[in-house]
This record gives sequence, C-alpha cells and structure tokens, in this order.
Amino acid sequence: MKLLIFDIDGTLTHLDGATSRAYAKAFEIILGRKPNTDGVSMHGRTDPLIFRECFERSGFTGDWRAPYEAFKPHYLHELPASIANTKRTFLHSGVRELLAALAERPEQFALALGTGNMEAGARVKIGYFNLSDYFPVGGFGDQHEERFMILRDAVTASESFYKTEFTPDDTWVIGDTEHDVRGAQAIGVKTLAVATGGKYSVEMLRETGADDVRPDLSETAEIVELFCR
Ligand SMILES: [Mg+2]
Repeated sequence: MKLLIFDIDGTLTHLDGATSRAYAKAFEIILGRKPNTDGVSMHGRTDPLIFRECFERSGFTGDWRAPYEAFKPHYLHELPASIANTKRTFLHSGVRELLAALAERPEQFALALGTGNMEAGARVKIGYFNLSDYFPVGGFGDQHEERFMILRDAVTASESFYKTEFTPDDTWVIGDTEHDVRGAQAIGVKTLAVATGGKYSVEMLRETGADDVRPDLSETAEIVELFCR
C-alpha cells in the first residue's frame, strides 16, 4: 500500500489571499495593530513560523507563543468567512479527478494531509471544497515550525489509522514548494512537486531534486501510475 501525503495550499486549493486576510484580522485583534508582512512568505511555511515572523517584523519582542495561542481561535473564526467572501477560490486542475481515482483503490492507496496549516484551519479549507472524507488523518502545523516534523507526524498518524507500516519507498509527498520537497527529502520519502502554487515554476521545482515535477495534477492516469512505482 502506498501512502500519499498531500499539501493543501497551492497544491490542492487556491484561496486567493483568504488565508492572509484572516491572519491579518486575527493578528490585529490580538496585538492591536496590523501585521507587518513585508518579506514574510506563506508559501510552504507553517502557521507558527508565519506568526512568529509577523510578530517579530511588526516590532514585537519576547515570547510569541502565548500571543500565538490567543491568535488561533480568532484566526479560525475569521477563516471561513474570509474564504466565503473571496471570489476566486478553486481547486487546482485535476485535483478532484485524481482524488476520486485514488479513493477508488483503497487497498492500494492511503491518503493523508501534510500541511503547515493548524489542523482546524486545514479542516476548514478542505471542508470548503468537500474533500474532508478523503483525508481522515494528517500531519499539521499546530506543534511544529519545521515541515519535516509535520511530514513525520503525517506518516505516524497514517500508520496508526491505516494499521499499515509505510516504508519511505512506499510514501509520497505531493506539494507545490521547495519546502515540501526538502521536508520530504529530510525523512527520505518520494516527492511529486506541482507548479500550481504560483511561486515555484516547473524549472525551479526540478532543481530541488523532486522525484517527479508536473505543471499540475491533471494527468490522472499517469499520476496514479507514478504512485504505483
Ligand atoms: Mg503549499
């Protein structure tokens, strides 16, 4: 059985800034001013890391974890409305078809999430597109700043949920940034990188040494076959 760990933002979904807007609102509620997001990249990053960078760049010092804990419920409160009020939200090409094809072969493929989002935020995002049933487990950004630790969590949670041991050779990470690829490489698993996130082109992703790079996930049959290798 193959374990397929999917990133969310830029890989499955396009939310057109809905996340940043919810982030900014919640940040302002907790800290009393808009975050300075200059030079803070959200692509492929984890929620705590993004918060810490915004916190520091906005001129705050000292412990960021307590304000982060206070920020979380506000962010989760803002996120659904922020997504619903954003016009250009969509699933990337081929996502729905690929997930449906994989779900047709549950004896062959186990699906999981591997995302920098806190779990509740991840659930809001995939729930918005009715994808929740595909992803019973995952690794999330609640605890870790580092992506490889999230991916390691995803593998552990999947082994327990699917009652299967997944070797690195049987495990794929599907993501849209070099952070996904590097995190996957750090735990020794395979990678499919897709250039749908808007920040990393096919050429840039090739340079990361990903096992396979594609413009998007639209070639369903080819991708299913790739995962079987
Ligand atoms: Mg991403």
